[in-house]
Amino acid sequence: MLKNNYHTHMKYCNHAEGETVDYVKKAIELGFSELGMSDHAPIPLNHGMTPAEWEENYCYENMTLDIFDKYLSEIDELRIKYPNIKILKGLESEFLDNNLEWYTNLRKRLDYMILGIHFYNYDGRVLDTYRDINDQTVDGYLRCARLGIESGLFDYLAHPDLYLYNYEFNDKAKEVCQELIDLCVKYDIYFEINTNGLKYTDNKLDQMRWRYPNKKFWLYVKDYMDKNPGKLKVIVGADSHTPDALNNDNVKLVEEFIKEIGLKVVEKAEF
Ligand SMILES: [Zn+2]
Ligand SMILES: [Zn+2]
Repeated sequence: MLKNNYHTHMKYCNHAEGETVDYVKKAIELGFSELGMSDHAPIPLNHGMTPAEWEENYCYENMTLDIFDKYLSEIDELRIKYPNIKILKGLESEFLDNNLEWYTNLRKRLDYMILGIHFYNYDGRVLDTYRDINDQTVDGYLRCARLGIESGLFDYLAHPDLYLYNYEFNDKAKEVCQELIDLCVKYDIYFEINTNGLKYTDNKLDQMRWRYPNKKFWLYVKDYMDKNPGKLKVIVGADSHTPDALNNDNVKLVEEFIKEIGLKVVEKAEF
């Protein structure tokens, strides 16, 4: 069972349910010693995207900047009210071109920041990671991960295998996987196996049909870890959008998968 979780959403992003306190209470009930809150970071309209791209990429499903203050002060209050669990201030953020100052200002107020690439720059456009990946555009995804990681602002790479949502684990995808590993090793960044991708799968019992975690990707990661012990820090992220998702069937199935393939995971993060 999960002991801690650092990938946690709440209602401020407009597509998750529950107050921060509901997640704290659930985490205490589950015996967690740490809970990292990481709701979706604000993305203003003027963020290097056309208004249409902003809409298409569901940027209204992120918290707004004024809510960000409230989010942080609520965590301060909860830390006093629930001293027996360590509550961390985080965000899950995108990393689009020409917005470095924006991300830098967000990061200053946090304990850690998660890089989650749901969309990325490619050839003058902003493309969707779920839909728009092929042998060419995948370079845009990788470039976005590289620039984000090299910025030094991020501590944790969410669902690194999201680019495989609609793309095969071919030779090109393998190279991308290896480069993501190398970047996270070099910059000492947590590499997440995300349990939330199972919600997109109709037949959860067939691991080959999981959108993410992607079995072929994680077997490759496991092989790397066997050959390079102690290098890559893999961590499980519930990516919960309801309090119950801190320990739902998707979490349990991914934990079984981790055991099955013998993947070594870190239980507690240090930021
Ligand atoms: Zn979300
Ligand atoms: Zn997330």
